Amino acid sequence: MILLDGKQTAADIRKELAARVRENREKAGRAPGLAVILVGEDPGSQIYVRNKERACAEVGIESTSFRLDAETTQEELQGRIKELNSDPGVDGVLLQLPLPSGLDSGPCLDLIAPDKDVDGFHPCNVGKLTLGMPGLRSCTPAGVMELLRRYEIELGGKKAVVVGRSNIVGKPLSLLLLQKNATVTVCHSRTRDLQSEVRGADVVVAALGRPGFVRGEIKPGAVVVDVGINRTESGLVGDCDFESVREVAGAMTPVPGGVGPMTIAQLLVNTVDSFEMRTGTK
Ligand code: NDP
Repeated sequence: MILLDGKQTAADIRKELAARVRENREKAGRAPGLAVILVGEDPGSQIYVRNKERACAEVGIESTSFRLDAETTQEELQGRIKELNSDPGVDGVLLQLPLPSGLDSGPCLDLIAPDKDVDGFHPCNVGKLTLGMPGLRSCTPAGVMELLRRYEIELGGKKAVVVGRSNIVGKPLSLLLLQKNATVTVCHSRTRDLQSEVRGADVVVAALGRPGFVRGEIKPGAVVVDVGINRTESGLVGDCDFESVREVAGAMTPVPGGVGPMTIAQLLVNTVDSFEMRTGTK
């Protein structure tokens, strides 16, 4: 069984990006800039933002975090996004979710300039993804695809089953798999006989947020991508039961150290891509 090592792959990507940034920052006259907005005190979000800051520093991206208190109004938050949209030193604007209750993320995400939308959530970028046009891609799905690409996992003609249809993971990932000529089935909470769908798949993606949901009842040699991050009493676990799946799978991602680090790496890729595009250094 091949362990798809997201931690190592993400480290390789950071190294490559650092070289690109070194090369282009002189030509551009500035470093790439990422603005992260964090509203409120959500402990999980604070950890994510700190990890993103650390990763940015490693590749030479100047990240600025705007920590706003939980009482921030919708107008104030949207005003901040507009300011960052028109700041020429900012290549990426990221709004850390979830927002505290009372704030509506939809209008905020719609307001982020599509060419600075490094999370790839703007309807314009989602539309481009659907049409197969170049654009900023949602980080987790793009990170998964990059991991599969680097491990030379062939997708053409394969049967891929994606469990989960969220706008940030399941749906965009199924489109990316389709673009690579996989035959894609998307499963969700209303799918009948989900287990038989999973058993028939060459590639299984678990993105539903249920600890240990996918077990060893899979096709021998299948590639299993575990997107889940679940905090349980026994620590951080994925949506797959690692021990039973590893007995049967041909390749799989671990949790932690699989898709998580690839998601952050893709955020850095998106920021550097946006920087190079905006400064004409690509
Ligand atoms: P959502 O809660 O937004 O979506 C979950 C999806 O799974 C829904 O489509 C839901 O179906 C489906 N689902 C839930 N329970 C079942 C079930 N019993 N059987 C079949 N389908 C089910 O989750 P996200 O997509 O945001 O996240 C999924 C997981 O990935 C979570 O563990 C999250 O923490 C993790 N995650 C990890 C990231 C990373 O960087 N590694 C990044 C983002 C998320 P329905 O639509 O019918 O309700």
